[in-house]
Amino acid sequence: MTQPIFMVGARGAGKTTVGSALAKALGYKFVDTDLYLLRTSGLSVADIVDREGWAGFRRRETETLKAISSPLTVVATGGGVVLSAENRDFMRQTGTVIYLRSPASTLANRLEDAPMEDQRPTLTGKPITEEMMQVLNEREALYQQAAHHVVDGTQDPAQVVNAIMEALALPMAR
Ligand code: ADP
Ligand code: MG
Repeated sequence: MTQPIFMVGARGAGKTTVGSALAKALGYKFVDTDLYLLRTSGLSVADIVDREGWAGFRRRETETLKAISSPLTVVATGGGVVLSAENRDFMRQTGTVIYLRSPASTLANRLEDAPMEDQRPTLTGKPITEEMMQVLNEREALYQQAAHHVVDGTQDPAQVVNAIMEALALPMAR
């Protein structure tokens, strides 16, 4: 199997951390859509949202997703990538989609411990646990819909990588 592997999940799910470890384990390239956007446009997610709003950011995100999805690549997506049906369909048809699933409390703890690793602006201006609960409420079904495999993201990163490698050896869901 050489098609790209897409990591989806909310902020703090481990898409970057686990995705890059998975790429190393498989001998794949690793690309992060937000980093790619930053490198190619010189703008952070926060800058783009400031200038163009979330709609502008989403449009660029879809273009980015299509531009970087090559074989033998692990792609860490942004948390909101699944909001677009176009993105969900594209990922499912082009590659294998992994949903890194963790409860809101776990995501909030991670983001509070390492606030600077995620340069995304808050979506709601609410306290972080509340925001993550709201985000998961809105998106849980979409993450599940997009994913070929749902993986428990609460274990330590090496264990999550192992769980993904096992899932990849199985026939794809649906
Ligand atoms: P994402 O890219 O999905 O937003 P990151 O990979 O940037 O998430 O992880 C967010 C924070 O949580 C980082 O500080 C990272 O070290 C930590 N983290 C990620 N995955 C795990 C994990 N499985 N167990 C513990 N901490 C994790
Ligand atoms: Mg990330």
